[in-house]
Amino acid sequence: MVDARDERAPDIVAVGSVAYDDVVSPAGARADQLGGSTVFFSLAARLFAKVGIVAAVGADFEQSDKRLLSERGIDLRWLQQRDGKTFRWRGSYVDDLNNAVTLDTQLNVFEDFKPDLGAAHADARALFLGNIAPAIQLDALRSLTKRPRWVVCDTMNLWIETRRDELTKVFEQVDVITINEAEARAYTGADSPAGAAAELLRRGPRYALIKRGEYGAMLFGRDFAFAAPAYPLTEVRDPTGAGDSFAGGFVGVLASRDAVGERELKQATIIGSAIASFTVSDFGTARLADLNKAELAKRCAEFKRLTRFDDIAF
Ligand code: AMP
Repeated sequence: MVDARDERAPDIVAVGSVAYDDVVSPAGARADQLGGSTVFFSLAARLFAKVGIVAAVGADFEQSDKRLLSERGIDLRWLQQRDGKTFRWRGSYVDDLNNAVTLDTQLNVFEDFKPDLGAAHADARALFLGNIAPAIQLDALRSLTKRPRWVVCDTMNLWIETRRDELTKVFEQVDVITINEAEARAYTGADSPAGAAAELLRRGPRYALIKRGEYGAMLFGRDFAFAAPAYPLTEVRDPTGAGDSFAGGFVGVLASRDAVGERELKQATIIGSAIASFTVSDFGTARLADLNKAELAKRCAEFKRLTRFDDIAF
């Protein structure tokens, strides 16, 4: 873990939402939970590298939420606090734990937010373009003076439906697209994860990480594919942040290794899935914020047992 007072530039820069979420799931309802794509991402990635958030919050953003992040080594020097309100999202998982139904989205301070990565990315090995309007993701890309080794993006159905052209421009400039299976199908028109990944890779990225909720995730490269299961939890309390914390573990591993090949990509995918399993076991950031590396290592060992078998003799 890293020290919040550490003045080094971050190893990973995350651009995207910082939010207050109202969530309903079969396990109950919560209002005003700390959330947003960069929050879940950085709470996961901090276990591997120093992460900086480039985003905006409103005057209503709680000091205690800032503290929660900074006490975990997350660099908030580029988190702008402005007049106005923090981004708000209201979602429901009552009918389907794998797909959130958005009941309301209020961009608030993100309406006119233009990220400038400036000094934040001086030493960055990875840039995560978390779920937010593709125009903001494009502004972040335009502000790069030095391209990090890994540029990874995420998105959601709202932008696929309303901002498809801008989103395509984002896809053309990244190394990895992380996306839900339903969203990948909606964007590409393909009817399988492999078909959707092939379409996405045609746009330029080296890898497509297709997240499949309780069915795990698949990572596709041009001549490589890897499937990770989801950890078989008996109860999912709140799936919010599963995808972002998956991406946080995945990018955290990539950014913390000098060389990345098939072996590291597979490890990164398993670690992403393992972290997501902790995230969804409680509401909001409650479990993820407390997660430590020893617990994560134990769960990764369980993943190994879950998936490994001896050669079968015929
Ligand atoms: P996920 O990992 O996909 O479950 O992401 C959940 C987070 O995405 C929530 O904490 C929301 O605040 C955030 N979110 C939902 N809709 C949007 C949106 N349109 N733009 C940016 N962030 C969003």
